[in-house]
Amino acid sequence: MKKIGVVLLTNDLRLHDNATLTEAIKENDEVIPLFCWDEKYMDSLQFGFSRMGKIRKAFLKKVLEDLHQQFKSIGGYLLLNQGSQLEVFEALVSQYSIHKVYTKKQVGIEEKRENDRLKNFLLSKGIDFEVYSTSTVYHPSDLPFSMSSIPEVFTKFRKTVEKEAVVRQPILAPSSIACPTISKDLQEIDAVIQNLQLDSRHALPELGGETAALKYLNTYLFEKQHILHYIDTRNELIGIDFSSKLSQWLSLGCISPKLIYHEIKRFEHEVTSNDSTYWLIFELLWRDFFRFSFKKHPLHYFQLHGILGKSERKPTKNSDIIDSWVLGETPNSFVNAAMKELKATGWTSNRMRQIVASYFIYDLEQDWRIGAAYFESQLIDYDVSSNWGNWAYIAGVGNDPRAGRKFNTEKQEEQYDKEKRYQRIWNAI
Ligand SMILES: Cc1cc2nc3c(=O)[nH]c(=O)nc-3n(C[C@H](O)[C@H](O)[C@H](O)COP(=O)(O)OP(=O)(O)OC[C@H]3O[C@@H](n4cnc5c(N)ncnc54)[C@H](O)[C@@H]3O)c2cc1C
Repeated sequence: MKKIGVVLLTNDLRLHDNATLTEAIKENDEVIPLFCWDEKYMDSLQFGFSRMGKIRKAFLKKVLEDLHQQFKSIGGYLLLNQGSQLEVFEALVSQYSIHKVYTKKQVGIEEKRENDRLKNFLLSKGIDFEVYSTSTVYHPSDLPFSMSSIPEVFTKFRKTVEKEAVVRQPILAPSSIACPTISKDLQEIDAVIQNLQLDSRHALPELGGETAALKYLNTYLFEKQHILHYIDTRNELIGIDFSSKLSQWLSLGCISPKLIYHEIKRFEHEVTSNDSTYWLIFELLWRDFFRFSFKKHPLHYFQLHGILGKSERKPTKNSDIIDSWVLGETPNSFVNAAMKELKATGWTSNRMRQIVASYFIYDLEQDWRIGAAYFESQLIDYDVSSNWGNWAYIAGVGNDPRAGRKFNTEKQEEQYDKEKRYQRIWNAI
């Protein structure tokens, strides 16, 4: 009898540097690459916002279509089934004699619970279940600290890993895959999901899945060499090239952070190195830092008092005020511009994310978790630890040694949008 493995893909939607896939191919005669499209979870509400807004869904759909093509090019397919992981596997185990399920380690608490439920179900059927870490620059087992002693402050984390840890080489994409015959592979995703059509003023590169991500990385680094000015431009607000624009692909795992790291190192070796090339890696380490901090504090980032367990502030919850922020109708036109950009495109720059989050927390005096939940619904690059970690940081209940960041919007506007160019673009809606 043929040995069949299932690769349960979640936010690791790529062929390259994907240990789940490589191991499954190595250990089995046939492999089923599977994605569970769980509409019920996506539409469930959190502080009144659906977990996955329509821009995020449309982008995911695009990424899955690309992944299906990628699998086809190596002789396989992507099986896309609707339902929760448990529902999908209940049906799958009745059709196939599955030997083992391979998936990536989750960091969000609900995703972890779902994995646990699935694991228990599979083990009860005698099916092995193994998780792999695939989403950070540094592999967790290469860190110079245990998960429970990850430093609470970024600088200490960064300096230690830079000195004591090594980034593994990315694993090459498989050149072939054998999948069992199946009647339907990429099912038609519900017709209600629109195709990805962003407002034409968006600041993102051409979106797609792994194929687009790899192509764009090469353009950004080697063809256009935009990385050379990253440190000077990363706080800008308008255009495509001022920052790397890799976050949406990182969030769904279309590109490996290890690969980005090694490509930047190759650029430094073959072209040149400067403060900018270093700084892009520095920012990627923030992402690692929040992810590892989440492993250390799995529950606290979703609580009002965060990882500190206390806060001086007593926020209110006023739905008119919250709506005015979401719709970009507050008394502050700079904030409004970013909120309109976010609504129309699922994206706004890091600088504007900081400003609108600070405004929500300190000027509008609302519960920071409501803002974080809106970002979760809306951001095309939503990433559980980067989003909730940054919100907690600004609210002063996260990893900020200065206990919170209130931004002076007037000063920020003076520095970053003196001529009101950004506001003119977005407030013209
Ligand atoms: C309130 C708030 C919420 C945020 N939510 C998210 C989120 O859900 N998903 C997300 O990817 N980023 C989030 N960020 C971080 C940051 O704004 C985005 O990663 C960045 O704007 C994406 O654009 P880029 O890829 O061009 O970034 P670049 O400036 O080119 O940075 C390169 C990469 O480094 C990482 N990075 C950069 N800054 C940060 C940071 N502050 N924290 C963690 N990682 C960082 C990202 O992976 C990014 O793609 C948030 C920041 C704030 C202030």
